[in-house]
Amino acid sequence: MTTRTTPPRPLDITAVFPELAPLARTAVRLHPRAGAPTAAGSSVGGPLLWPAEEPWPTCPEHAGPWQHGVAPDDVHVGRRVLREAWARPRAEGADLLTEEERALVDRGTEPYRTALDGPVPLVPVAQIRAADVPTLPRPEGTDLLQVLWCAFDHPEDDYSPRVELRWRRAADVVTPLAAPPRPAVIGSDDYLPEPCVLHPETVTEYPAPHELPEELADRIHAWEAGIEGDGGIEGEDEEPEVCYQYDLAVAPGWKLGGHAPWSFSDPFPMACAECGAGVRPLLTIDGTEWDGGSGSWAPVEDAGYTGYHFLGPALETQITIGRSYRLQVYVCEASYDHPPVQNMQ
Ligand SMILES: [Zn+2]
Ligand SMILES: [Zn+2]
Repeated sequence: MTTRTTPPRPLDITAVFPELAPLARTAVRLHPRAGAPTAAGSSVGGPLLWPAEEPWPTCPEHAGPWQHGVAPDDVHVGRRVLREAWARPRAEGADLLTEEERALVDRGTEPYRTALDGPVPLVPVAQIRAADVPTLPRPEGTDLLQVLWCAFDHPEDDYSPRVELRWRRAADVVTPLAAPPRPAVIGSDDYLPEPCVLHPETVTEYPAPHELPEELADRIHAWEAGIEGDGGIEGEDEEPEVCYQYDLAVAPGWKLGGHAPWSFSDPFPMACAECGAGVRPLLTIDGTEWDGGSGSWAPVEDAGYTGYHFLGPALETQITIGRSYRLQVYVCEASYDHPPVQNMQ
């Protein structure tokens, strides 16, 4: 398995703020990259190792008779057309797509009204084997986490897909399901991952500034301002050279564990809906592995890609959560059997 390597952080923040040291947590960056995963391996958007005798989960909220959405096969076709178009040479000013290609891309991205004759099957989102991530949080006796979602907006879940989790022991799946049901329609192409293989890597994270005591967050902010524009041109509107939130705190991209990627809202208490116990971060689903602001986290193996082009390694899952947000999935601290809590940030 090839690897992905996060460059060392620009500096050791605990040398500047020793009070952050006890707040360190490890996270496992999953580094999904386009590939051909099998049900036996870890993946994003790959097939799941599913027992033939176990019913495939569905969401009862979109049973029909009509739904607005797109067909998964059309989504994959449209993306392939776009990939091929970006990859071929093009005269300056020439259109990216032919008329025929444009129609195929539109077919996979523009929702239309379509008939539906039963509950919508969930879509495989991720499968993670403990063999690939030994620190995978999991119930005793299991070695496989499977993540599925209903690929429609759910108003009560921040208008994002609703996530379901399954933990199992791979060896228990004696007869795997050969052809899992697939939805005829999904709410948006944003919610259908392209098949990716994973390259798990353990990193250290510190809390987002939103989660720190205000006094400490203020001191970090003042420290950032102090190193801002060091060596630059006076009066230029410069980005800070090192930004605690984007360079030192929480890793961008798909990951297990670590700290929550608080961004546009302040943290609020979250609890298990079933038992009221606390919850902890399990999985972060992110449309972008890094962007301009969090570019210091781009793996050294992907150093050739400075931007986040359609073809680039930062976008290969093809997932988009809201306006380039992240979907954070939490699990109950008391029981893995309780439903996950999710939050968009
Ligand atoms: Zn649903
Ligand atoms: Zn609970």
